[in-house]
Amino acid sequence: MLRSVKTHALLKTAICSLDQIIANASLQLIGERGALLSFLFHGLFQDEGELSAGVVDPQQGVTVEMFGSFIGHFKNQSYKFISPADIMEGLQPQGKYVLITFDDGYYNNVRALPVLEEFDVPAVFFISTDHVRRGKAYWWDVIFREFGRRGRTKDEVRVAQNKCKRLKTGAVEAWLKAEFGEHSLTPVGELDRPFSKSELGKFANHRLVVLGNHTKDHAILTNYSTAEISEQIQGAQDAIGEMTGKFPDIIAYPNGEYSEDIMQMAQAAGLSLGVVVEPGKNKVPIRALAREAMRMKRFIIWGNSGIDAQCRASRSDISLYRTLKQIHFITRAGFSY
Ligand SMILES: [Zn+2]
Repeated sequence: MLRSVKTHALLKTAICSLDQIIANASLQLIGERGALLSFLFHGLFQDEGELSAGVVDPQQGVTVEMFGSFIGHFKNQSYKFISPADIMEGLQPQGKYVLITFDDGYYNNVRALPVLEEFDVPAVFFISTDHVRRGKAYWWDVIFREFGRRGRTKDEVRVAQNKCKRLKTGAVEAWLKAEFGEHSLTPVGELDRPFSKSELGKFANHRLVVLGNHTKDHAILTNYSTAEISEQIQGAQDAIGEMTGKFPDIIAYPNGEYSEDIMQMAQAAGLSLGVVVEPGKNKVPIRALAREAMRMKRFIIWGNSGIDAQCRASRSDISLYRTLKQIHFITRAGFSY
């Protein structure tokens, strides 16, 4: 298991390097067709110090500065940054669009605001509402932190996190409390905590902020019964409505796990759009409520690799990595929620 984690990482690095060469050639020779490119972010870090502090799982390790470079790249390429409402109103077949998304509801996402304002672009923030209501830390950060304190390796952290992804959130949190104490799910600072209810209400009023549904409890929905799935999705709709006065149009399935039934239940809860974690360009226009609208692909930007190169790779119509992933040669793009 441990060896496979390392081999996977090496393989991914090799494929990504090859893809950058392919992308440069493809963009020069073929150019770009109209498409919607969506990107997934989690926490935003101020600097390297925060990344290595061991308080939260760095995940993609994207800093505020890198986030600005990412937006700058697509602005320079004349991409239009859009909101879910723009998708529902209809996109042009030849248009080049970007949808920025942040998952989970970390309070540190307020750091995106000055950058969004500087470029005048919107972003969607997907909120797990029970984390906001109860002020809970996210379980993957607790594993990262507590394992780190005990000198466990990064691979051991990944193995434990991957095991937990097959469980319901309640079971994971019960295990963490038994293992690391009753207060292990209490956030330790500004970096790992979710928004509070009042902060979220204020945040939602910002003209460039759109909130999305990320279930009540960051439920990896394929681990839940039909009744529980409905409750998780509808519960988050209701909670966001109650906290902000607005109901989301878009859902991000936690860990990107979805099924036909889950998409239908999301629609029944009033959602018209959905995003997954699979990388890829989305064809435009996109018809709200259509199957493809309920599972729009998203790219992930990594802080430990060149931002421009990754942006170019996402614009390219040809990608070895995406092709291999489509044929299930690669089962997981890396670590993502
Ligand atoms: Zn998530």
